[in-house]
Order: sequence, then structure tokens, then C-alpha cells
Amino acid sequence: MQLVGENYQLTGEIDPLYLVNKYGAPLYVYDTSIIASQYKRLSTAFDVPSLRINFACKALTNLAILKFMNSLGAGLDTVSIEEVRLGIAAGFDPHNIIFTPNCVSVEEIELAIEAGVRINIDNISTLEQIGTRHPGLPVCIRVNPHIMAGGNSKISTGHIDSKFGISIHQMPHVLRIVDAIGMKIEGVHMHTGSDILDVDVFLAGAEILLKIAKHFKHLDYIDFGSGFKVPYKRDDIYTDIEELGEKISKRFRTFCSQYGRDLTLMFEPGKFLVSESGYFFAKVNVIKQTTSTVFAGIDSGMNHLIRPMFYNSHHTILNVSNPTGKPRIYTVVGYICETDTFGANRLIPQLQEDDIICFLNAGAYCFTMASNYNSRLRPAEVLIHNGKDYLIRKRETIEDLMRNQVDLDIFKNEHEHA
Ligand SMILES: *Cc1c(COP(=O)(O)O)cnc(C)c1O
Repeated sequence: MQLVGENYQLTGEIDPLYLVNKYGAPLYVYDTSIIASQYKRLSTAFDVPSLRINFACKALTNLAILKFMNSLGAGLDTVSIEEVRLGIAAGFDPHNIIFTPNCVSVEEIELAIEAGVRINIDNISTLEQIGTRHPGLPVCIRVNPHIMAGGNSKISTGHIDSKFGISIHQMPHVLRIVDAIGMKIEGVHMHTGSDILDVDVFLAGAEILLKIAKHFKHLDYIDFGSGFKVPYKRDDIYTDIEELGEKISKRFRTFCSQYGRDLTLMFEPGKFLVSESGYFFAKVNVIKQTTSTVFAGIDSGMNHLIRPMFYNSHHTILNVSNPTGKPRIYTVVGYICETDTFGANRLIPQLQEDDIICFLNAGAYCFTMASNYNSRLRPAEVLIHNGKDYLIRKRETIEDLMRNQVDLDIFKNEHEHA
């Protein structure tokens, strides 16, 4: 599927309405051709001796997506032992998985070490404990460069009060621990947050990281994290990957020649690789005219797609059933018993009850943030690959909602004698 033309029409070999008929709505659909072209864009943007792109899988963890990433040659960036296990189940070599947790227990890090994945450490206490228990284990250090980046405070992770990373001001302490234990630091890492709008801000962070990198003599890689913003609407701002690639590559090559050895340049994008590959389809349940607003109430809610409510993010909404209808202004809302507005005052081709609408940019942080709130079932997921559609996750059933609940049988007759 592909978007073309002025009206953001959905076109391509597969008719979205055919998919909705076949699999039902609400429905998540992902197109591998878009993931592949984003991966290629990223890997050609950087001109360095060695590049590794680790997919930040919290954006989209379906096993089929992970397997596809593996086939492209990507590694994996994981933030929980469960993501590590999904990655291994999808066939990744543990060596190509990096574990970048925050505020997890040392026990969880031990499990990741047992699984054989790379460990990225983001506080001094953990560094000391892991270093003492595994003095020979090469690890990566997550540095907080204290720069302000990121689209909003929930996803901005590199600023001074952030809970992420080891402060650059604590590097003397880190070096003392590393020297005392004789640890091997194989990588340094930063991730300043999602939605970097300014290449120069990113470069300023990179400069700080490189300054720190010089102090470690056994590095294999430098990991600049992610934060690549993609457009969410027409004329939206986004990270200029080609410009970033050119500037970072030049700086990185200079660094390597000063360091005396070629290192691997690493990135860990989530959104950039999968956001635009995803579509979320839902049916219009009601059109409701109030005194001031025309609401389109859909057969979904913040339980399936929470980004608009949680981050205030904009997802373009299309009318798939009637793409050429006369545009009118709608406020698109969900069925949850809370105000769950997907988009206010949107110009959308005239909507009718039972029409199918489509949310764009539904590949990253959409299904993975879905819940069962209001005891709703999570949608099915479908993959489009080489012009064919594949079911990659079944729609949940009421049995799924009850599966782990323990049915107590102790309340019978309890009030009978009251
Ligand atoms: C979430 C996350 C990413 C991915 O961020 P995107 O904005 O989706 O590219 C990368 N690295 C770490 C450590 C993360 O937590």
C-alpha cells in the first residue's frame, strides 16, 4: 500500500477494504516494503567503515516484524528481558541484540547476560554490581549528555533531570570503577529522546559522547541512539536523515582516525523504521451532531491507539470508504468511557456510519501500547509482503481476557444467613 496524490488516497495492489472484509475491523496492517525502504535509506545515509542499525523493538514487537528486520540485517535494541526473549525467539543472534534497560533489577540484567546479549548500563550502582560479578564481561555505558531534545517531556530522555543514562559529570567516577575492576567498556551510547528536529542539536550531543569515548581504550562501537522524527502530516517537519548522515559520518571518520582504529557506528531507530509502514483501520459507529461539533464515534478507542491522547500526537485520518467525498469537519472520538479524542476538527471526506477510516503512521508505538481497558479485545495484525497479506496476530477473544484470571468459588451462600 502506498499513499499518493493530493488527497492522501490509499492505493496499491491490495485494497484496504478487502483487508477489512477479510480480517474485520479494527485492524492493524503493516507493509514490509516501507520498512525495507526506510532501512535502506538509513543504511545508505551513513558512509562509515562499519554501521549497525538495531531496531528499537518496543515500537513494534510482532514476531513477523522482528523476523523481517533480521532478514534485512538489522540488530535489535531491547528494553526488557521479555523483548530480549522475543528477539531470540525471532531468530536473532544474541550478539546482535543490545539490552538497554532503565531502572530494572540486577537480576533482570543477569538474565540478559545469561542469554548472551550485549548489555548497556545506565547507572553507576549497576555498573559496580555487574562489574564486580562479571569483571571480564564487555559492557556498554549509556551516557546522559544533558542536552534538551525530543518532541515532548515524556519522550525527551537526555536532559539534566532525566532518569536515563549516567551523567557526563559522573565520568570520573565511572572511570575509577572501570579501572579498579579492570572492566572492558566495548561501547558508549546516548539516546536523547524521540523526535529530533534539529540536526545540529543531535551533533552537539554526538560531540559530547565522542569526547567521553576517547577515555575508553577498548571500544568496539559508538551508539548514537535514535530520535529520528518522521512526518505525521503533509508539510510536517522531520529529521533530515541524509544531512544527518553526511555530517555524522564525516565527524565519525575523523574520530576513528584520531582514536587509531575503525569503530562501528550504531543507531537504534524505532519510529523511523516502522511508523509509516503501519495503518490502523476502524469503522465509524455513529455520527453525532451536538450544538457545536460533529463527532465521528468509531469502533475503537485509546485502548487500541493511545498516542493522540497520551502524547498529543497527530495521526492523519482518511475516509477509505468514500475518499472522494466532500470534505467536512469532524472530531473523531473513541468509544472509551473517558474523553478519547483521536483528532479534533479534522477535514475528512464526508463520513457515514459504517464507513472505514484509516489512521496513518500506525506502525510505531500503536499496537505495542494497546491495552484491554474497558475489557475490549485487542485487534488483529496483518502483514503485507510482496503483494500478499498474512495474518500475524489473531484478534483477541473473550477467552483471552479471562485466561489468567482465577475463578474464585468461595462467595456462594456467603450472605444467605446475614
Ligand atoms: C525508544 C528507544 C529508541 C527508539 O526511539 P525512536 O524515537 O522510536 O526511534 C531507541 N533507543 C532507546 C534506548 C529507546 O528507549
